[in-house]
Amino acid sequence: MRIKHIRQRLADLGAKPVHIQRVLRLWAQALPQEGGKRRPEDFLPQSVREGLDALLAEVGGLATLRSAHPGADGSERLLVGLSGGQTCESVLLPRDGLCVSSQVGCAVGCVFCMTGQDGLLRQIGSAEIVAQVALARTRRPVKKVVFMGMGEPSHNLDNVLEAIDLLGTLGNIGHKNLVFSTVGDPRAFERLLSLPADRVKPALALSLHSTRAELRARLLPRAAPMTPEELVDAGERYARATGYPIQYQWTLLEGINDSEAEMEGIVRLLHGKYALMNLIPYNEVDALDFKRPSWERAAEMARWLHRRGILTKLRHSAGQDVDGGCGQLRARESARPAHRKPVPIPLVSADTLRAVADSVQPLADRAREGG
Ligand code: SF4
Repeated sequence: MRIKHIRQRLADLGAKPVHIQRVLRLWAQALPQEGGKRRPEDFLPQSVREGLDALLAEVGGLATLRSAHPGADGSERLLVGLSGGQTCESVLLPRDGLCVSSQVGCAVGCVFCMTGQDGLLRQIGSAEIVAQVALARTRRPVKKVVFMGMGEPSHNLDNVLEAIDLLGTLGNIGHKNLVFSTVGDPRAFERLLSLPADRVKPALALSLHSTRAELRARLLPRAAPMTPEELVDAGERYARATGYPIQYQWTLLEGINDSEAEMEGIVRLLHGKYALMNLIPYNEVDALDFKRPSWERAAEMARWLHRRGILTKLRHSAGQDVDGGCGQLRARESARPAHRKPVPIPLVSADTLRAVADSVQPLADRAREGG
């Protein structure tokens, strides 16, 4: 369901824009509809009050709690039930953050990600995205929403931008605390850059993972064909337009993208850019053959980048003691319908990727030496 459908249903009940704003504001903030400065009977038309309970019951069913999994770091992974029996994951983060899902499954098919293994199963509607926030707010305050859960937001742009707009206007989330996280897509950059001045402009996180186009294409097999240079150019344009730095995401995979050549590639690409690099050691998953580098190695890399002028943070991904990573809860707890064939993803083993990384390395060295 989309937010515009809720607006239409309220308008059909006789609600004026001011009434619709009130209902949506209280819903998105998980506040009781009886709350607010004025009692509903003094503010909402009778026809709206009569139809509201049924509509709210429907909206309340858009995202329901299936199970909650607290982590030792203060995070909490939620398995969320959606209509049609599908599920997705939201993660309550330490310090009032929430990571939401924008799709069930994902078409990008990153070879290190459980969510990507089944392909795209369905889009998550804008109202279902806001409903994940409302659900999370019944457990804790939420002051920041990052679109880093299941799915690729640029493949569900209309719904994601609609949800961002509501959260940034009526949902009491600061604009720069809404983080649109993407592997990069020209259509998404175009839409984000052309948002009118009076609309909510989210901050941007870009998943880079490699500075080598060929390796990145293997790690993210169905990402839009943009080179790392093109991604950084587009990110920099958005950063300069909004005044928010771009957050680059780099999932560290041992022996694959943790080489010195990659670190030098990061310096080459990001030096002087309005950017922050987040190094995130991979969360190992039984079903996938990738390893996380040691924390010491990752910390050394972060220090090395810092010394070369790249603002770098080393981050844990939340709730790693709960389950390996995004899509794990869903993979474990949802039974795959027998009639549905999974979309085939050409899985590349970690060994093959290492071989690619090794074969690209001498070329990178030669290029650097001018050979
Ligand atoms: S890492 Fe993100 S973009 Fe890649 S497959 Fe998983 S959900 Fe999709």
